[in-house]
Amino acid sequence: MRHIAVIGSGPAGYYTAEACQKAFGESVRVDIIDRLPVPFGLIRTGVAPDHQSIKGVSRRYEAVALTDNVRFVGNVTIGQDISIDELRALYDAVVLATGAPHDRKLDIPGAELPGVVGSAAFVGWYNGHPDYADLAPPLTGPAVVIGNGNVALDVARILAKTSEEFVGSDIVGHAFTALQGAHIDTITLLGRRGPHQIAMTPKELGELGELERARPIVDPVDLPPLDTDSLLDPGQRKSVMHLRNFSGANGADKPIRIVFDFFAMPVAIEGDGRAERVVVERTALDAEGRANGTGERYTVPASLVVSCIGYRTPPIEGVPYDDRSGRFANDEGRVLPGLYAVGWARRGPTGTIGTNRPDGFAIADKIAADIGDGAGKQGRVGLDALLAGRGVEVVTFRDWQKIEAAENAAAREGSPREKFTSIDALLAARNP
Ligand SMILES: Cc1cc2nc3c(=O)[nH]c(=O)nc-3n(C[C@H](O)[C@H](O)[C@H](O)COP(=O)(O)OP(=O)(O)OC[C@H]3O[C@@H](n4cnc5c(N)ncnc54)[C@H](O)[C@@H]3O)c2cc1C
Repeated sequence: MRHIAVIGSGPAGYYTAEACQKAFGESVRVDIIDRLPVPFGLIRTGVAPDHQSIKGVSRRYEAVALTDNVRFVGNVTIGQDISIDELRALYDAVVLATGAPHDRKLDIPGAELPGVVGSAAFVGWYNGHPDYADLAPPLTGPAVVIGNGNVALDVARILAKTSEEFVGSDIVGHAFTALQGAHIDTITLLGRRGPHQIAMTPKELGELGELERARPIVDPVDLPPLDTDSLLDPGQRKSVMHLRNFSGANGADKPIRIVFDFFAMPVAIEGDGRAERVVVERTALDAEGRANGTGERYTVPASLVVSCIGYRTPPIEGVPYDDRSGRFANDEGRVLPGLYAVGWARRGPTGTIGTNRPDGFAIADKIAADIGDGAGKQGRVGLDALLAGRGVEVVTFRDWQKIEAAENAAAREGSPREKFTSIDALLAARNP
């Protein structure tokens, strides 16, 4: 029997479990351990609440979780309730699938002012992550979103939507209510580089053009010459096409303007005890397409600043760490003998949900090559004894199904569920 512990129940964790099941059949036991009492990582707490079809992928993970040889072990934090060395002593292979839940630091003066939040916190707030339920972001006046990727698009869209546009979404009640009372007139998206260099995908970008009360605005001067579009890859070409369509508007016809400010690098945030404006330096591209400051500065008013500039994996004691890249040091997933990394904890915060699947399958191959038939370790029996001895309250997949049923039952009209946003409420929902 091979005993495998996967730390993290997001896509990378579940794809790894699925791959181990396929590779080893009945001769494997996989424990998927998560610090939250609920599974699925960013599918639940990152993917936008108004993109329910994407969240549907969790049904596939559920099928994996409901087999006899895969267990969900929720409410257990590795590095706190149990150490990596203890896990390595119990399991033949330990796989780090802990994602990249911390924001990359916005390293400019004023970044610590109230009103400045990272996207992990902001997205966690509207998606019901217990760590961020109390965020209370300021929602009156202008907002600035720093970044030109899909997370920045999600944030801008959520800030701009009407209550009716949230029908069918599972945005949590506290965020829904706060956004209903919001008075945001301008959302400025700051990007260091140009329209042809954005990391936004065309489908998500196109959605901005369909919002009821918001108008996306692009300065035509920023757009690349029409005859260079053929040089772009198909995705970029479609995105630039959307931006060209947006460039005709001045925004006077709708109450919220979503302004794309390209070639714009934030250099400071200023305000009297709280964020009031972002100081921005104009950039220009060099021959390699890198954006460099030109020295020309201006300010953009902002009572809310959301930085969407990437994520880092927090270190865990006993795991080699690469501080420069902000993830676990690894050689194509191998970290130490019997210790592996997958998903965002291995590659950093790039790619889609599906990108994590080949990652999980590649690690299962490496585990198969490294551990043979297993080394006669204790696996889950040893874990259960250790956690029970420490009084750790473990949440099983059956418990999660009860929590899910309670969340579905608590849904407000037009919403599939009302997520519980505190650990206590989640734990209490196991015993209806
Ligand atoms: C805001 C946002 C929106 C996104 N939207 C989309 C989208 O629309 N479509 C798409 O394809 N992709 C989207 N993505 C990307 C997608 O979510 C990621 O590719 C994917 O979630 C990465 O999977 P992962 O398993 O590596 O990490 P995660 O999904 O982050 O899972 C990590 C898990 O590890 C757990 N964990 C962390 N530390 C510990 C610890 N010490 N002990 C125990 N457990 C721990 C966490 O609780 C979490 O459950 C989005 C990402 C973000 C941030």
